[in-house]
Amino acid sequence: MRAVVLREFGEPENLRLEEVEAPDPAALRGREVLVRVRAVGMCYHDIINRAGNLPRTKLPSILGHEIAGDVASVGPEVQAFRAGDRVATIQRVHCGRCDLCRRGRTTLCKEGVFFGEEIPGGYADFVVSEEQGLAKVPDGLGIEEASICACTIGTAIHVVRTRGEVLLDETVLITGASGGVGLHAIQVCRLIGARVYAVTSSPAKAARLKEAGADEVIVSPDLKFASAVRRATGGRGVDAVIEITGALTFDQSMRSLAPAGRLIVVGNLETRPVSFMPGLVILKELEIRGSFATTTAELSESFRLVTEKKIRPVVSRVMPLAEVAKAHQILFDRGATGRIVLQI
Ligand SMILES: [Zn+2]
Ligand SMILES: [Zn+2]
Repeated sequence: MRAVVLREFGEPENLRLEEVEAPDPAALRGREVLVRVRAVGMCYHDIINRAGNLPRTKLPSILGHEIAGDVASVGPEVQAFRAGDRVATIQRVHCGRCDLCRRGRTTLCKEGVFFGEEIPGGYADFVVSEEQGLAKVPDGLGIEEASICACTIGTAIHVVRTRGEVLLDETVLITGASGGVGLHAIQVCRLIGARVYAVTSSPAKAARLKEAGADEVIVSPDLKFASAVRRATGGRGVDAVIEITGALTFDQSMRSLAPAGRLIVVGNLETRPVSFMPGLVILKELEIRGSFATTTAELSESFRLVTEKKIRPVVSRVMPLAEVAKAHQILFDRGATGRIVLQI
């Protein structure tokens, strides 16, 4: 099969299309499902991974965790899927047996495996996933759109609703709002009935954020936005920050919070530590929470919302697998609003 194999961490050019042996359908065990990949979405996680900044990735590796395609074959214990079904994966497949899985915290599964890290990902003709990592793609939903639902809408549901517990009429600030998670987090907040303030460093992206549903766009080229947020909220600050850029904006996000506010960290573009004033956390009783990946139920919920036209998955560009290096460069240069999807 064709696969983009990363043999050395580094530049986009290190992603090379090769001919490798496909997984053997006859060798599928237990709940394993063999998927013929049709589309794979890309996000900044792939760039961090390619650069060698994710400790669990062993080389050679096949990246890609936003996968959609057709079931080609199933293992002996698979119950929910059969050959021909259209499916999409979540980013990290849980075991379903450990104490965290049993408590419903499947994204934290101790035995969880992330596509492109512990297990081969979707930059290839075929991929293997255990069935608990898959959801059926509804009829009428395009396969490119389906591929990005987990990591964009699913992640947005996980961070805004499950972890952020955002409520009607609350105010929410979203950093890195013009990326894949950001554009969809805006839509999830709007669906709940929260008021959205979107931060972007680029004036060119402001109109796009308004169009996506942001009530107010704060353009901040130097990313010193806390005072602008206070002004916009009558001095109060916001109830929640969806922190998508991470270390880069963490301090300003903390300063943007109202009393009892919560900062939910879902993305981090730079692998460096942050500092904050503990006094601020005490006096305002602030909360810092993490949000990681997506559950299978949240992926199915994403599909439902898309089918009901309540949320729109934003694919900005579809490119062939052979142009993966170019696609990584565009993503790195922040040249895309919404997701780039590779067609397999
Ligand atoms: Zn992703
Ligand atoms: Zn588990």
